Amino acid sequence: MRLENKVAIITGASSGIGKETAMLFCQEGARITATSRSAEKLEQICREISGYGEKVIYIKGDVTSREEMEEVVRKTIDTFGRVDILINNAGITQDALVTKMTKEQWNNVINVDLSGAFNCIQVVAPYMIEQGSGVIINASSISGIYGNIGQVNYASAKAGLIGMTKTLAKELGKKGVRVNAVAPGFIKTPMTETVPDKIMNMIIERTPLRRIGEPGDVAHAYLYLASDDAKFINGEVLHVDGGLVL
Ligand code: NAP
Repeated sequence: MRLENKVAIITGASSGIGKETAMLFCQEGARITATSRSAEKLEQICREISGYGEKVIYIKGDVTSREEMEEVVRKTIDTFGRVDILINNAGITQDALVTKMTKEQWNNVINVDLSGAFNCIQVVAPYMIEQGSGVIINASSISGIYGNIGQVNYASAKAGLIGMTKTLAKELGKKGVRVNAVAPGFIKTPMTETVPDKIMNMIIERTPLRRIGEPGDVAHAYLYLASDDAKFINGEVLHVDGGLVL
């Protein structure tokens, strides 16, 4: 088991990639705190993985709230005694062309996808620094690397996460804390379920591996980066897109 004795906080654990990650991390021996804004969904997921005994707790929290993220970290440490891994996975899209995008759509996506990750890191980092060890992984996107029509808010947030990842890899690396990012392509989750079939088929045609990603594809990338297998990897952005963008 690759995460034996590790304690992980996973944001956005109620759906898609985060849910899959919660399950995988438990199978790999981690104790986890699953968090999102929906207590009902988190409770259901914890029930599904309750075969793993006392290894999972859920705490309702919005990543845009510093107080709620402080509570998540405090309860994690009260319950498990430490925190080794932060998966900054929570994210939203609110797409529109730049001329049509409202200030609200811009602010919402920046607040959740970029400032939310910053919030969680600021709360967790002091504990990791004190421990002298830790791993932080941010969910970027190929949109943040290559841009995507209709996603100026999302692409800006996801590009910002790459700058954040590289900066914090330098700041925190010397304290024993690794910071990396993943950049998924198109993954089959509730986030992409409104993408029309025509677009999805076009993406599949352009992807050398000839398929859309599954949540588990990203969960396994998180697992690798979180595990000691990646102990000399810091400041990296791991593409998980089947070779869509080369
Ligand atoms: P998803 O199924 O829509 O899940 C998003 C998660 O984020 C949910 O658990 C949601 O939970 C949580 N969330 C949203 N706003 C939140 C907030 N303010 N505070 C706390 N949690 C919040 O999406 P997904 O596809 O699994 O995406 C996971 C991550 O991968 C995101 O960062 C996304 O941008 C990134 N990504 C996805 C794709 C893709 O193709 N799917 C591609 C590239 C990158 P609640 O609603 O319960 O709060």
